[in-house]
Amino acid sequence: MSSATQDPQPTTAPSDRLAEMLDSSARIEELSSAQEDEIKEADDDDEYETSSDSDDGQNVHRWLGSKAKPNLPFYFAAPGPLRDTLATSTSVAQEKTMREVLDLMTGNAQIMTDVNAYGLPHLLKNKHAAFLRTILGKYPPPFQVMDASRPWLLYWALNGLRTLGVDVSEYKQRCIDTFTPLQNPEGGFGGGHGHLSHAAASYAATLSLALVGGLDMIDRRAMWHWLGQVKNPSGGFNMAVNGEQDVRGAYCCMTIHTLLRLPLTLPPSSPARAAGLDSFTSNLGSWISSCQTFEGGLGGAPDNEAHGAYAFCVLACLCLLDSPTKAIPTYLNTKSLTHWLVFRQASPEGGFSGRTNKLVDACYSHWVGGCWSLLESALSIPAGKSLWHREGLVRYTLTCSQAKKGGLRDKPSTRPDGYHTNYSLAGLSAAQYVYTYKDDVETTQDTEVEALTAAFNWSFERPTQQQMKEWCFDEKDLVEPVHPVFVLPFDVVEDARAKFAGKVGF
Ligand SMILES: [Zn+2]
Repeated sequence: MSSATQDPQPTTAPSDRLAEMLDSSARIEELSSAQEDEIKEADDDDEYETSSDSDDGQNVHRWLGSKAKPNLPFYFAAPGPLRDTLATSTSVAQEKTMREVLDLMTGNAQIMTDVNAYGLPHLLKNKHAAFLRTILGKYPPPFQVMDASRPWLLYWALNGLRTLGVDVSEYKQRCIDTFTPLQNPEGGFGGGHGHLSHAAASYAATLSLALVGGLDMIDRRAMWHWLGQVKNPSGGFNMAVNGEQDVRGAYCCMTIHTLLRLPLTLPPSSPARAAGLDSFTSNLGSWISSCQTFEGGLGGAPDNEAHGAYAFCVLACLCLLDSPTKAIPTYLNTKSLTHWLVFRQASPEGGFSGRTNKLVDACYSHWVGGCWSLLESALSIPAGKSLWHREGLVRYTLTCSQAKKGGLRDKPSTRPDGYHTNYSLAGLSAAQYVYTYKDDVETTQDTEVEALTAAFNWSFERPTQQQMKEWCFDEKDLVEPVHPVFVLPFDVVEDARAKFAGKVGF
């Protein structure tokens, strides 16, 4: 039973629903650029440089005096040949960003002089780790607007630290103490104290707890029941009970389901069961399929605009269901998806945009960069070959995303934040490692207990010296491998798998 006409849940588009609920002045756009004045005092704004801080030649001299010059291919050193003469607010912003990026790429405005063998600034691991640790500290009053995002703040900081190779076990008890009041008796986690359970908050809480070895505090039976409440009769998932249905819900809920090894059978109380479905996976692939747009990318819900973050949610969700070679081509047109994804990588910037005619932004280093391992595996692209430009993303991350004082940022002239730091590092990991799916492992579904296990069959290869040379980074710039489906370190995923392996029921 898959008819959307029987869907009793709201059909309002996610963006419309957000507009209904929040006055525009209360929203945080991308978490980094909005409300800058309000949080300025908390962030000590003066500490963060922008490209406009470049000082009439001094930086150039410092750059030229450093160990290596940026040996740039032409496509990172100059604007592309095709220019749109129609001036819009977007084209003006694009021009400004591109000029700032070129100034950094060519060294004209570069103020980081500790560079690697290819003339790119080294990854400032210690400074980024120190920045992420501040996110695990106390917050000043203006951050009350982040009250519903407590699990996210923890996940971005903890995952970012682990990606930098930092042990986070010291945060285990504090993490459990934070999440204890957020876990609701009916299952799942709210974003803040007293909040209703939400798929995104539950996803970030589950991943955070996995990172510190605290999964035992999750009431798995209650979580199973709550996930049953948000399984939509159409096949997808709502973000909350009576909340909007979109592909974030599908990815978040199925990630939780898989990591906790919950039964695939829908609970008796699930509205989807009452509508005729029997499994968490029932009609999920076909609903996801309806989110592919005329451009080839993926929208958050049917008829929405294609967007990089939703594309990752879709591809990763399909890779939870089965091997990429089976799940992805079955439900998506891979040819048009490849075309759309290729056009997300910008030149001369090297980073990714999230949508057509949008600007480069470092969070898409993961949302789009993370799509490539999944899609390339689906298309059986030989190891060592790539459909995207890894060097470009490495250049953008090291040269343009790093704030000199620590943390990574959306683009030059924006300030760093936990969200962009975590996803820039995850994107860097996507560029530095080759992730492959072990298709010879047949047990994609453990039929004895009907648990999904396909996503545990991924492995990684460390880059060779030749690959590091091609992709322009030193050993010192290498981050830890990040699992392409769970967006957690591989050892954290393995610990979660081993913890519940063979478990039947609760
Ligand atoms: Zn962003």
